[in-house]
Amino acid sequence: MNPGPRTMIREIGEQMDRGVFPVVYNRGIVRPNEAPGSSSIIGLEMRHEAAGSSRPATGPWQWSSRRQGAPGRPWPARRSRSAGASASVVSAQLRSAYSEGLTDCAQAYPTLVAWDHEHEMWLMAESVIANGLGRTALFFLHLPYSRTLRVRGWGFWKTAVSRTWIGSRHTNFPDGSICAFEMTDGTWGPGDPPVALLDLYTVWAARHLHLEWFGRWPGFQSVPQPAERICEIRDDEFCGCGNFTDLYRDCCKPDDLRKTTSGEMIDFWGFQRRHPPLEIVEAAWRQEPPHLTAELQPISLGTQPAAA
Ligand SMILES: [Zn+2]
Repeated sequence: MNPGPRTMIREIGEQMDRGVFPVVYNRGIVRPNEAPGSSSIIGLEMRHEAAGSSRPATGPWQWSSRRQGAPGRPWPARRSRSAGASASVVSAQLRSAYSEGLTDCAQAYPTLVAWDHEHEMWLMAESVIANGLGRTALFFLHLPYSRTLRVRGWGFWKTAVSRTWIGSRHTNFPDGSICAFEMTDGTWGPGDPPVALLDLYTVWAARHLHLEWFGRWPGFQSVPQPAERICEIRDDEFCGCGNFTDLYRDCCKPDDLRKTTSGEMIDFWGFQRRHPPLEIVEAAWRQEPPHLTAELQPISLGTQPAAA
């Protein structure tokens, strides 16, 4: 008998509190790790060290930071570069890496839709998270073909009649984009497989479910700003200062309360509110990429496996 979503999410949370990362299966289903010893977080949030380097068609996906080396599909016919585009800005290497990664991504996330522009790629995909949930997590990913621009993603809970932004915990200021890992810790970087990024976002959404249902963010977290910690971290969550052994109430909370000025608190609440841009919210309803123009070409993903 399969446990219900709440039981599943509770168990995932208990594992994450012990530094054990869950396993992401095809269609973005998150399940507790059956072999906790094989996948542990080493110090930093969301670092996923795993033995597997490829994802079986129906099995769990455990990713490493190594490139997949997938054979990839032939890239669709390109339009000629417009006169204004600069070859030094647009990275052909990134474009090629992301396009090669689409095959794996479409197998793992059968709802995947991808759009290509000469400067960027947009991906849209849904994660089941847990069977019987009654909603899915809808993600938009923006992958610029430039190493100087940040890769961003947004998440929404989706039902037939609703789109609800997933936040504001662990999203970026001010655009509400997903903050699923520390950019500096090497978890994922530009040119890495898009499927690995979707897996990270999928687990991030599962943690949001835990927050919604059980009132606390499970597992280690990085929240360097004291004002943000005061406003958002619950007493029984791990502290966000980089100490991954103590709960907030036993770590920085007393100092945060004593040292943080009212100005810093006002700054956090008044000037750093997070929300997705209107174009992103509209895109979530239309299920099209933001700023869709004739220039932005849908990418054929070839033969997509039927959703199981
Ligand atoms: Zn602390």
